[in-house]
Amino acid sequence: MVARYDAIIIGAGIIGCCTAFELAKRGWKTLNVDRLPAAGYGSTSFSSAIIRTHYSTLEGMAMAYEGYHHWRDWEKYLGIEDERGFARYRETGCLVMNAGKNPQVGTWTSLSDKLGIPWESWSPETILEKLPFLDLACYGPPKNLDHPDFGLPNGETVKGAVFFPVAGYMNDPQLAAHNAQIAAQGAGAEFLFNAPVTEIRQSGERVCGVTLADGREIDAPVIVNIGGPHSSRINRMAGVDDKMALDTRALREEVAYVPCVPGFDFEKNGPIMTDEDVGSYVRPEIGNFLVIGGLNAACDPMQWVDPDDFQDSLSDQAQVQLMRMAQRMPNLGIPGHLRGIVACYDVSPDWIPIYDKTDLAGFYLAIGTSGNQFKNAPVAGALMAELIGTCELGRDHDADPVSFHLKNLNRDLNIGFFSRNRKINEDSSFSVLG
Ligand SMILES: Cc1cc2nc3c(=O)[nH]c(=O)nc-3n(C[C@H](O)[C@H](O)[C@H](O)COP(=O)(O)OP(=O)(O)OC[C@H]3O[C@@H](n4cnc5c(N)ncnc54)[C@H](O)[C@@H]3O)c2cc1C
Repeated sequence: MVARYDAIIIGAGIIGCCTAFELAKRGWKTLNVDRLPAAGYGSTSFSSAIIRTHYSTLEGMAMAYEGYHHWRDWEKYLGIEDERGFARYRETGCLVMNAGKNPQVGTWTSLSDKLGIPWESWSPETILEKLPFLDLACYGPPKNLDHPDFGLPNGETVKGAVFFPVAGYMNDPQLAAHNAQIAAQGAGAEFLFNAPVTEIRQSGERVCGVTLADGREIDAPVIVNIGGPHSSRINRMAGVDDKMALDTRALREEVAYVPCVPGFDFEKNGPIMTDEDVGSYVRPEIGNFLVIGGLNAACDPMQWVDPDDFQDSLSDQAQVQLMRMAQRMPNLGIPGHLRGIVACYDVSPDWIPIYDKTDLAGFYLAIGTSGNQFKNAPVAGALMAELIGTCELGRDHDADPVSFHLKNLNRDLNIGFFSRNRKINEDSSFSVLG
């Protein structure tokens, strides 16, 4: 007998699990199908899981600030017990270094004011008082290791920094996905693992189910693509890839894990830092380690890859990110054997996600998360549930966009902002910062 559900969600990453939770709470009988053995084993498990509010658009910031409230009260939001325990939010604040070259710093502070997001202006003296091991010489624009001027100061110094106290990170993104899975199951959702979807079946003008690699068929009138870096493949299976203005691509990324500079407890006292002068970001990690990732500097080649076939060992990318951060932290040791991870972002052309319906009735998208949507997952889940529920009642979201109420901000968000057919948003940073 063919199994039947109200909705099949392809993917059980953090956004897939949160979408299941939100749909199940609204009474939908959902099934998440994932090709991997457990929730959050895809790109979610590699996430730096940074929760920050500065994005280049008002909508992006509003969504992130709403998301922050969910992470801060994660257990309360889920309202269940999980025998594995809960992923924890650690509030560290986020320090955005300002070398005076990035006009977005002004955007972030003025949009913060509009949304009531607190921020502080730190002088160079304040930065050094709090983080005495930093060197405030400027080196920008970021360069590659073979550039003759790599590591040479450019004669300027950091002008100051903006500190966002409302920021931090989740200590275990895979556990967060597991927590959301357990909450979704508590609300009636079902999950199927080790089950790659190989076909999206249609009947007439509408989706009617999926076929798995082992030939099993599962039916549902609604299918949601939350396949992370595989999202464009899934769109191709559904035949919608050439019917949308924006596509998504898998981008290979490396993140380094290194011990902090000696003599400073960064795990306890260090903030998240984004530093466009050196093209890297850093966040504290357990054991007084640093997680160091890249900000997609102009000189860094984009590594667009096949998400099933890419080099999964570290290359020069992690090394260069580390050495650039060492410009800001001169006592940072450079290990002979670098530890880190390699994973993929699912990138849209303007690095803003696509939360939308498609031209194929019953087929929905939560994709293009561009290395910056872990923090938005609970909001994305609720927003997708609202979108799907409203469209299935007959609303034409393309002509008359659905809006979603951000409860904590008491503000409506136009879901049409995340359209698959939008014009590329020129306000974007066109980087992982969104
Ligand atoms: C290195 C790195 C660092 C990041 N850092 C941050 C950060 O600091 N802050 C932040 O907000 N965001 C960050 N992100 C982004 C964030 O992690 C992602 O946006 C988020 O995890 C996406 O969740 P998801 O559920 O959409 O996708 P995923 O977690 O990728 O889940 C997709 C799932 O779909 C499954 N799937 C794919 N194809 C099929 C198929 N055919 N059949 C069945 N299942 C399928 C996969 O197995 C996978 O489990 C980072 C991402 C990476 C890679």
